[in-house]
Amino acid sequence: MEKVILVRYGEIILKGLNRPMFEDRLIKNIKQSLYGLGKISVRRSQARIFIEPRQDDFDFENAVTRLVNVMGIISVSIVWKIKTDFEEIKKHSVGMVRNYMTKLNRHAAAKGPVRMKETSEASVGFKVEAKRGNKNFPIQSPEICRQLGGYLLKNVPGLKVDVHDPDFIFYVEVRDSTYIYCDIIPAFGGLPVGTSGKAMLLLSGGIDSPVAGWMMAKRGMELEAVHFHTYPYTSERAKDKVIALARILSRYCHRIRLHIVPFTEIQLDINDKCPEEHLTVLMRRAMMKISEKIAAENGAKALITGESLGQVASQTVEAIAVTNEAVRMPVFRPLIGMDKNEVIETARRIDTYETSILPYEDCCTVFVAKHPKTRPGLEEIKELEGRLSLDAMIERAIADTETVVIGE
Ligand code: ATP
Ligand code: MG
Repeated sequence: MEKVILVRYGEIILKGLNRPMFEDRLIKNIKQSLYGLGKISVRRSQARIFIEPRQDDFDFENAVTRLVNVMGIISVSIVWKIKTDFEEIKKHSVGMVRNYMTKLNRHAAAKGPVRMKETSEASVGFKVEAKRGNKNFPIQSPEICRQLGGYLLKNVPGLKVDVHDPDFIFYVEVRDSTYIYCDIIPAFGGLPVGTSGKAMLLLSGGIDSPVAGWMMAKRGMELEAVHFHTYPYTSERAKDKVIALARILSRYCHRIRLHIVPFTEIQLDINDKCPEEHLTVLMRRAMMKISEKIAAENGAKALITGESLGQVASQTVEAIAVTNEAVRMPVFRPLIGMDKNEVIETARRIDTYETSILPYEDCCTVFVAKHPKTRPGLEEIKELEGRLSLDAMIERAIADTETVVIGE
């Protein structure tokens, strides 16, 4: 018996002639994510990937925790690889289900004494699902389920068959070798990071932009990020918070270069020379222009923001149009049609939420207008921009940008 990890991937299968490119990238990303956990070999077979450890003390749990964050993967299972021989299958199935029951009981015990009593009295419902990929194997799938189900019932105490609402499913896949497992751990799906080019994420310290970046990484985009820092109006801790957010994002896309741009001069100049109601849009346009330049210098082909239609005054269709006019690069706004609670739900799922709600202020909370204009006109905004020496300030901001590399 050999313990291995089975990785299922989905959408890549649809990519026709490009499929090998997608699969190669997925395998590369898998290897990268498991770096440091020990020697492995990664093998592709029949639209699945098998990860076979080449050392005894391989940390399977940790490996699975990392793999479920690799974009392109639909689900993973820790499986036992055994000989395709029915006696062997029966023997190892009993071993695996016994292990699994011990784990279930431990889990129940951890929930407290009442629950434990319940489970020790009732038996655990299960069913067998068999797939026969190897047509030379003499027993057909329904018969495998029947015979193996009966054998497990007889040899593992505390089990009962429940085909409609089982507590767990015992899976058997008969191929050249046979694979057995009880758990399918879901991952996020999507496309392997690096197969859709690179984008520059405008990363604030808020809830929205990390989610926006994650969504585009899920569509296969490599990310770099840019953050505008208004020191000393915003603190070092606000910057640390953004670095922490980038670090969480890097779990999903391996490595992120974060460009931290000093924005104080521009912010103060806008504040000085322009009416308060236009602050946000002017500031946003300056951010977009700087981000586009940094993106172009670093091979990124699009910008990503966390804007959502109607969420705040600067996110009306008119304000977005004026913001957009500042750049030529495509701007991806994956949250545009999402409600705040949907964004929060995703933020929790990807583990950025708790960091995002830390209280350190960012420039948009410090320099905020009491009555921002919801329908700015482009001509008026451009006239205001004319009062600023924007190009020179942008040059200086980019020259003083600090870049940190986040992730292994
Ligand atoms: P978030 O939760 O992402 O901060 P928000 O709802 O607070 O978004 P705004 O503050 O209006 O919205 O910002 C809109 C978008 O502009 C953000 O999602 C982000 O992409 C970008 N942005 C805002 N402030 C900054 C900043 N200091 N640095 C980098 N990008 C920023
Ligand atoms: Mg914000």
